[in-house]
Amino acid sequence: MTEQLAPMPADWRRALAVVAHPDDMEYGAAAAVATWTGGGREVAYLLATRGEAGIDTVPPAEAAPLREREQLAGAAEVGVSVVEFLDHRDGVIEYGPALRRDIAAAIRRHRPELVITLNHHDTWGGTAWNTPDHRAVGRAAIDAAADAGNRWIFPELADQGIEPWDGVRWVAVAASPRPTHAVDVTEGRERALRSLLEHRGYIEALTDEDPEAYARAFLDRGTEATAPAFGGRPAVAFELFAR
Ligand SMILES: [Zn+2]
Repeated sequence: MTEQLAPMPADWRRALAVVAHPDDMEYGAAAAVATWTGGGREVAYLLATRGEAGIDTVPPAEAAPLREREQLAGAAEVGVSVVEFLDHRDGVIEYGPALRRDIAAAIRRHRPELVITLNHHDTWGGTAWNTPDHRAVGRAAIDAAADAGNRWIFPELADQGIEPWDGVRWVAVAASPRPTHAVDVTEGRERALRSLLEHRGYIEALTDEDPEAYARAFLDRGTEATAPAFGGRPAVAFELFAR
């Protein structure tokens, strides 16, 4: 018997997803977002970069606006109309107070009960090494959930009228090798597929496969891998940190 994941908390209204790159949400977590927005919840996205270093054949000055457009379109497919960019530099995001402050400021402005981020661990599981940007942003997002509530950690934010928000109750980490919770994404999976497909320029540079076949296979692998630990239902898993 596979150990079962707990259901994600449902008693919240607003979430903020904080990730490093365009496409980080679309490679899995967007199916949960689609399910939540379909149920009337609000989700906004905050991206640390514009993903300008993500396409080998396209120089950063051209890649940034392309990936920004693809991200806005991808977010819209899953009911997310607010997408903000912090403009840290893709590939060399530094974990530290500057990143924590930027994320804490966004949490204070959006006032979410749930913060969503991407795997902050060293690996995706086993020996599949994670990237430095994901580690930095994931860790900073978890830390900033607390920073947002403490007026003395970044006092300059309150001076700018960005008042503390101590209402984050959970941080949910997508694609963690140590998941604890999951959400049934039967409702959201088709919209999540269209959301990933909006990253067409990125996907076409990445693979010779048909983009739809590639995207569907990737997303189905994720939800099917989680299903045995969630009553056989297609699901997206998270590692949940309660506050
Ligand atoms: Zn990424």
